[in-house]
Amino acid sequence: MTGVFVGLFFCAPFTHAQNDRFDWDRTLRVDFVLVGNLHYQKAYVSKIRTYNGSNAGSNQMISPFDYGEYRYFLIDPERGDTLFKRGFSTLFEEWRTIDEAKEKERAFQQSIEMPMPLIPVKLVVESRLRNGRFVALFHEEVLPDDLSINRFQPFDFPSQVIHGTNQPHKNFDLLFLAEGYQAGQADLFFSQVEKLTTKLLATEPYKTFKDRITVRAVAAPSKHSGPDDPRADEWRSTILSSSFNTFGVDRYLETEATWKVYDVAAQAPHDHIIVLVNSDKYGGGGIYNHFSVVTAGHRNSGTVLIHELGHGFGGLGDEYFGVDVSYNDFINLEIEPWQPNLTTLVDFDRKWKHMLAPEIPIPTPVRPMYKNTTGVFEGGGYVRKGVFRPAINCRMRTNEAAGFCEVCTDVIKRKIQFHTQ
Ligand SMILES: [Zn+2]
Repeated sequence: MTGVFVGLFFCAPFTHAQNDRFDWDRTLRVDFVLVGNLHYQKAYVSKIRTYNGSNAGSNQMISPFDYGEYRYFLIDPERGDTLFKRGFSTLFEEWRTIDEAKEKERAFQQSIEMPMPLIPVKLVVESRLRNGRFVALFHEEVLPDDLSINRFQPFDFPSQVIHGTNQPHKNFDLLFLAEGYQAGQADLFFSQVEKLTTKLLATEPYKTFKDRITVRAVAAPSKHSGPDDPRADEWRSTILSSSFNTFGVDRYLETEATWKVYDVAAQAPHDHIIVLVNSDKYGGGGIYNHFSVVTAGHRNSGTVLIHELGHGFGGLGDEYFGVDVSYNDFINLEIEPWQPNLTTLVDFDRKWKHMLAPEIPIPTPVRPMYKNTTGVFEGGGYVRKGVFRPAINCRMRTNEAAGFCEVCTDVIKRKIQFHTQ
C-alpha cells in the first residue's frame, strides 16, 4: 500500500518508466493465423503465451529498421507512447504472389515475440498495402494478469552454447534448432552447427562483431531423419515438419509449422532462429524476423546460411533475377521497395545514394571497371528491368560472390549493433 500511496504523490511521472513496464526475463508471444488470397488478407489471434526467457533488452525496444511487409507495436494505452516495435515478413505474403493465390484461399501460422509487459498494453499489428503504406491488420489488448494468457513451459531438449557468452540482453543471440535429426544424431547436429558457426564468424560483418555474438543449439529429436522431399516422394515425421519444394521450387526449403518452431525455440535466447535441416541436398529459405532455414550437409551450406540470414536477420532482398521462382509482381515498380539493398530509383535518396562515389553513373553499366564498386546495377528482386542492386555481385545474388556488397554489409552491421547496444 505504501508504494502505491507514495507513487501517487511523488513518483507519478516515473511510475511508468520503461524499466517498470516490462519483465525483462519473460517473453510474450502472440500466435495468429494469416488467411486470404491474392486480393485480401485477415488475421486471427489463436493463442497468447508467456514464458521464462528473454530476448530483447531495454535498449532494443524500438527497431529503427522499417523492413518487412508487416510490423507490430506495443502501445501504452494510458500515455499513448510506443513501447516496442519490430518489422517482419511472412511465408504467407510470398504465397500471395504465386498463381495458386489467384484461385485459392489459405491459412498460415505466424508468431511474434516481445518482452512481457507488466502493465496493460495494446498490441497493434499492421500490414503493407501495395502502395507501401501500412494499415492496421488487428489489435489486441494484453492484460498481464489475464489467466487466458498461457504460461508456456518450454521444452528441455539437449542444448549447447556453441560460441560466446550467456548475456541475452547484450549479445546478438543466434539459435540453431535441429530438424530431422533422430535422438542418436545430436552429436552430428552439434558438430554441424559448429562448422557453420566457424564459417559465419569468419565472414564480414559477423567477423568484426564475433565477441558480441552468441550461438546456441537445441537438439530437438525427430522420429525420422531428414525433411520431406516431395519430388523424391520422401515423407518423414520430423519435429518441425520442414519440406523442400515450397511453392513448387525444389530448392526452397521451408516449414509452415511456425508455432512449433517457436515452441522449441523458447528454451533458449534467440534474436534470430535458424532451423538446421539434416540433409546434404542444396536448399534453404529466410524470412525477415520470422526464421531462416538451411540444410546442414551440402558443400555450400555455409554460404547458403549466410545468404538466408541476409533475408531472415538482415531484411535484405534477393539481388538475383532470371532464375526460376514462382512469384508474380513481387516488387511494385512504382514505389521504393522496403528491401534496403534494392531500389526502383523512385526515391533513391532514401537508399544507398550517399554511398556512391561522385563519378559513378546512375544507373551503372555492368563493366569490369565497376567490378568491386558500389553502384546502381539493373536487375534484382527476381526481375531484369526496373529494379536495381548495389553491386555486380554480392552474397545476396550468387554463391560465387566473395561476400556481401558494401550496402548489405552496412545493413547487417547496423542490425548487429542494434541488438548489442
Ligand atoms: Zn548486396
